[in-house]
Amino acid sequence: VLATLAHKIALDPTVVQANYFARACGVARFTWNWALAKWNEMYAVGEKPDAAKVRKLFNSIKAELFPWIYEIHKDANQRVFTDLHDAFRRFFEKTAAHPVFKRKWQRDSCYVSNDHFAINGDRVRLPIVGWVRMHEELRFDGKIMSATISREADRWFLSVTVQHLDMRSVTEAIGNGIIGVDLGISALATLSSGEVIEGPKPLKAALKQLQLAGRSLSRKVKGSSNWKKAVVVLQCIHARITHIRKDFIHKLTTRLCRENQTVVIEDLRMAFMLKNRHLSRAASDMGLSEFRRQMKYKTLLFGTELIIADQFFPSTRICSKCGALKDMLLSERTYRCDACGLVLSRDHNAAINLEQLGYPRPAGFSTCGQEGAGPPITGRRNHAWMKQEPAGHMENA
Ligand SMILES: [Zn+2]
Repeated sequence: VLATLAHKIALDPTVVQANYFARACGVARFTWNWALAKWNEMYAVGEKPDAAKVRKLFNSIKAELFPWIYEIHKDANQRVFTDLHDAFRRFFEKTAAHPVFKRKWQRDSCYVSNDHFAINGDRVRLPIVGWVRMHEELRFDGKIMSATISREADRWFLSVTVQHLDMRSVTEAIGNGIIGVDLGISALATLSSGEVIEGPKPLKAALKQLQLAGRSLSRKVKGSSNWKKAVVVLQCIHARITHIRKDFIHKLTTRLCRENQTVVIEDLRMAFMLKNRHLSRAASDMGLSEFRRQMKYKTLLFGTELIIADQFFPSTRICSKCGALKDMLLSERTYRCDACGLVLSRDHNAAINLEQLGYPRPAGFSTCGQEGAGPPITGRRNHAWMKQEPAGHMENA
């Protein structure tokens, strides 16, 4: 199996190197905005723009009009045209919004092609700036395709794309059970085995900091220098939260895929609607969609099967023991079955119901899901509650 993986690694640049990165991202942003304006212009007068045409125009005038571009390695601007072309292709395929102009600090990034950098242990040699220290070594073996330097709040990252030839080198399954996963916010996930997976502790601390920083910002005069400082503080906390959560989700998704043959999760839209009470919507969206994104490519890596329950599958309302249905208020944290007397935590009950979708028998829900005690995975399943989705694109940003 051939798969493309990306590993994002934090960098420790010197002040001079960080300055260069900022200017390189500036060139990439400038080129993008110039190319997008030109693209729109050509389109408006009926010409058919493409990457080659717009790049040619840019190259013909850059020496005269934008000489400062030569202070930065050419990778920062030459790749932009292809990226813009791809963005328009996705737009016309209706899988993305229309490309927009980039603003400073908004996802600053620039491209480095694979013949212009080299990795040696925990260091990377980049054009112009030379060796830069990385926080960890590259996780994957394989052919290095390209790299992107990007900024999040005040930190710099290198995202390296690697093409794998042999997936066994990164994936070794250690179990073959079926597991249901109920995604939450206060607890990140509840497994059908009964295990409750809490979010990491540093996350809770950071969320508290975020609240305080938000309050502090709201007391400052907008646009003042104190306000600007507070904005940077807020951005840094946001970036930290993102990383803590992402790292945690990586460990969880890897574990789920390694230990199981089949993982059943609920539909994300349902999870959104029911569970974003404790955190801001943006924060909860991020965690759940990141979980699902990682599950999609990791199940492919590990050869694990991913089943996504249909959005109307009433995982919280079914009794996992006898199959009876009852209405559950959002505030009810315990499932009490009127028919058979089952008393179980709401999330655990839902996780067992999800696990049941992984078994090759119709929805009878006549037995409780026992850890590792399921029948072999063959034959028919209750496809009515299973969502049909194309295989995910393997990417690990
Ligand atoms: Zn019951």
